[in-house]
Amino acid sequence: AKARGRNKHVVYDPSMNARARARLRRENDLRRAIEREELAVYYQPKVDLRTGSISGFEALVRWESPERGIVPPDEFIALAEETALIFPVGRWVLEEACRQAKEWREEYGAVGDDLSVAVNVSARQLQQEQGGIVEEVERVLALTGLEAGCLHLEITESVLMEDVPQNISTLARLKALGVHVEIDDFGTGYSSLAYLKRFPVDGLKMDKSFVEKLDSDEESAAIVEAMIMLARALDLEVIAEGVETPAQLARLRSLGCDVAQGYHFGRPVEAMAATGILDTVLSR
Ligand code: C2E
Ligand code: CA
Ligand code: CA
Ligand code: CA
Repeated sequence: AKARGRNKHVVYDPSMNARARARLRRENDLRRAIEREELAVYYQPKVDLRTGSISGFEALVRWESPERGIVPPDEFIALAEETALIFPVGRWVLEEACRQAKEWREEYGAVGDDLSVAVNVSARQLQQEQGGIVEEVERVLALTGLEAGCLHLEITESVLMEDVPQNISTLARLKALGVHVEIDDFGTGYSSLAYLKRFPVDGLKMDKSFVEKLDSDEESAAIVEAMIMLARALDLEVIAEGVETPAQLARLRSLGCDVAQGYHFGRPVEAMAATGILDTVLSR
């Protein structure tokens, strides 16, 4: 390290440099993973509680690393956001998920909005210049031939609250394409009721932290009930994520929740395994 000068701010900080180098290495690893096509989309079923059948899947990205095994998104999405690698990653997931959903719809003769696919949209994707996400979605729908109503976009509540007027305008343009927009991790992002009414969205996806406490904690149950009533009042669909137990499912059903997703029904799995699930439940 450099000798300390009189001005503290020029001090060379070896630990920070090491951190910067580690980050650069992680960035290069991720870039190489994209080039080597090591990313994979996994699919987790969403169940319509009115009919009991699979209404669609959520697309969840994984990194199948030859060295590290299956790396979950929590370990690389944040880095991808910071480095703009989220753009190629997000574009690839969107294309892959729409192509898969189109294939399933044809294979199983799905009608209407059945067999939809939900894709997560990150902050940077939503906020890119001149509504770039709108053009991208339009392009991918045209490319894959997927009906717009079968594409659901999940945007977290905290991201929506970052730039409300801009996001309202982007959501309106997405909705004009015919895609469904859902507020993800609902209940954790502190949106006010006034904003909620102004966001042009189709559904609320209740955060799993509320679902988790449904069995044990009456106050959480009351909050879940209030969220479901709120969604009803605003004419929005309610989706519960993180459903793990039959008791949670029974409770959600009695409270009038529309759609549920969680390990109780199935974990996220590779496309081929998801096709297997459809084969079993929808066998013609
Ligand atoms: P999320 O969108 O809130 O997704 C739900 C997460 O909960 C997923 O974790 C899912 O595997 C997990 N999960 C599902 N059912 C259960 C359950 O019953 N119990 C519990 N404890 N967990 C359950 P995953 O796949 O690791 O994804 C984590 C986060 O990474 C996602 O949270 C999402 O924010 C982000 N993510 C995943 N794929 C993408 C993507 O393609 N693009 C972007 N931008 N973000 C993504
Ligand atoms: Ca999600
Ligand atoms: Ca969520
Ligand atoms: Ca989440």
